[in-house]
Amino acid sequence: MSNPLLEVAADLLSGAIKVVDLSVTLKSDTPILQLPEEFGWKNAWPFSMEEISRYDERGPAWYWNNIKCGEHTGTHFDAPIHWVTGKDHENHATDTLPPATFVAPCVVIDATADAAADEDFLLTREYLENWEATHGQIPQRSWVLYRTDWSKRSDPESFLNRREDGNHNPGWDPAAITFLAEERDVTGVGTETVGTDAGQAAAQDPMFPCHNLMHGANKCGLASLCNLDQLPPTGAILIAAPLKIQNGSGSPCRVIALVPTAQ
Ligand code: MN
Repeated sequence: MSNPLLEVAADLLSGAIKVVDLSVTLKSDTPILQLPEEFGWKNAWPFSMEEISRYDERGPAWYWNNIKCGEHTGTHFDAPIHWVTGKDHENHATDTLPPATFVAPCVVIDATADAAADEDFLLTREYLENWEATHGQIPQRSWVLYRTDWSKRSDPESFLNRREDGNHNPGWDPAAITFLAEERDVTGVGTETVGTDAGQAAAQDPMFPCHNLMHGANKCGLASLCNLDQLPPTGAILIAAPLKIQNGSGSPCRVIALVPTAQ
């Protein structure tokens, strides 16, 4: 009887498979999405931490903290229940999504040059079709990771890139999302930006098309990823499991990739 996982275990031990961390550090200045105040929309808590004890009079042998943040803080998972279009699906929250959702192949669409030339760049269906002409069809169940090198903006202000009219960062043309959800049946998409949509996505039709159409199709999202430049275009496996929050819409998440060393 063959067990393919034994080969994976041996490859992890030898270094033939390496593990790449795609997650940012959670800290008080981790950038979070702030919605336009003029709509009166309520906003999320930033990450904060309070020390309970640290080998001291409050607890002589132990160190631990209380933490507080919104579900959509730092590198995080978006479950289909996050959006109104996904509210009626079954098993659509962080605690009910099938665990197989959390382990999937990934492809990386490198739009670095386009994002550098235009901070409001919108990735189109044609862009994905051109990518497929080089790298092959995007496999079913894949995570589609949208590389922009946006995560290299280490200063929160430049990362959020907020101006009077809101944030400016790359996103998606709606037809690209429909293509991935319906014709490629992906697990979801992941971005390097604060959310999965463009900074100016409130003005798109539909509003926030990645959220609207992906979650409407019972698909997921990942945001604030980093180190996508360490992944091959195809052939890596992504592990992204949200905290099992009852009826949760998402959660901060340690996203890692298994990558073959010889490419
Ligand atoms: Mn989110």
